[in-house]
Amino acid sequence: MRLPSVPRALALAAALVPAALIAQGSPIPTSDAAVQRAMAAMQAQQAWTLEQQVSICEIPAPPFMEQRRAEEFRRRMISFGYPDTRIDTEGNVIASIGRGDGPTVMIAGHLDTVFPEGTDVKTVRTGNRIAGPGIGDDCRGLAVVLTLAKVLKEAKLEPRGTVYLVGNVGEEGPGNLRGVRHLMTKEFPGKIDFFISVDGQGGGSITSRAVGSHRYTISFEGPGGHSYGAFGMANPMHAMGRAIAKIADLQVPGSPKVTFNVGIVRGGTSVNTITPLAQMDVDMRSESATALDDIDRRIRAAVDAGAAEERARWPNSRAPITVKYDTIGIRPTGGQADNAPIVQTAMAAVRAVGWTPSTSASSTDANLPISMGIPAITINGGGTGGGAHGTQEYYEETPDAYKGPQLALLIIAALAGVAR
Ligand SMILES: [Zn+2]
Repeated sequence: MRLPSVPRALALAAALVPAALIAQGSPIPTSDAAVQRAMAAMQAQQAWTLEQQVSICEIPAPPFMEQRRAEEFRRRMISFGYPDTRIDTEGNVIASIGRGDGPTVMIAGHLDTVFPEGTDVKTVRTGNRIAGPGIGDDCRGLAVVLTLAKVLKEAKLEPRGTVYLVGNVGEEGPGNLRGVRHLMTKEFPGKIDFFISVDGQGGGSITSRAVGSHRYTISFEGPGGHSYGAFGMANPMHAMGRAIAKIADLQVPGSPKVTFNVGIVRGGTSVNTITPLAQMDVDMRSESATALDDIDRRIRAAVDAGAAEERARWPNSRAPITVKYDTIGIRPTGGQADNAPIVQTAMAAVRAVGWTPSTSASSTDANLPISMGIPAITINGGGTGGGAHGTQEYYEETPDAYKGPQLALLIIAALAGVAR
């Protein structure tokens, strides 16, 4: 097979100047014999990678219930030659490889899905298209990590530093990044030099900036009463309606992008009851921490104003309306410039597999390390697809889908180095 060629300028630069001087990134070791063996094996085993993706995906992994999938992920890692693969106290599966004489790199796919217990996770294949909940997000990422693990052993490619190969829990909303938070703060505090998440299908787009989010359940509470008998009492549901109307009218900047959404409302006991409780789940996002704090303040002001207006509407009512916030999740934001070494290295690796690099902002496991100042990115796993987070989710195998695992390989070989 023919290996992807390194762009000429990069290859020349690699030959002539010390690594530290090359665009601040690490050179991509495409001429290394072990790297070439691994690249070839990944292409040859493209169908095997897809089998891994499908079979791991047919094990349910609802938020906080990733154990079965984690056990299977661990079993496979052990069978590839990682006998010490373990599951940490949070539920993350961790294997490692490398001489330990260079940078420490963690690469992870997430085990969890957004789908609740009882969701039918059987996949349906039609030609190159495979439909199934989580098939792209993130069974593709898990398949890339499994392929990487197997091929590193087969090709006898030993990293110079240490590479942790991980299947982590808690990426999706309710998990609130609990898996990666545990890894960064409890298992390996201060020890990870670079973090790479492989999340979903796709090509050369690199997530280098973290879209942060604040999510709350906001409760409006009062004594409640009969809709006729207690009429004239401030009404928590009406207060919430006023607050929602104010939130809906908020103006936000386009750059940095700021978004808000009242996603779920609930409450009420019957049509003729003034409810004692009305609740809404609110999500707000931005890649700017300042802008995120600002929209948070304005939403709280809208909620306070809604409650105050409802109380003022019934001056003779002594019924209070209280407002309570429960945090669903806080995802930190943060940015890395496009010339950050990890971003430069990843972009060079994207070019080396023959794709076109670009950078973007998103909300992924990389948010957490980015917010801690640890260089981190999220990459795609190859192939195409769509419908993530819906039961119609699908993945489509493309002829060059093997470049997903190859991209992961080149990035970790560049960052951790290759032992000689
Ligand atoms: Zn994902």
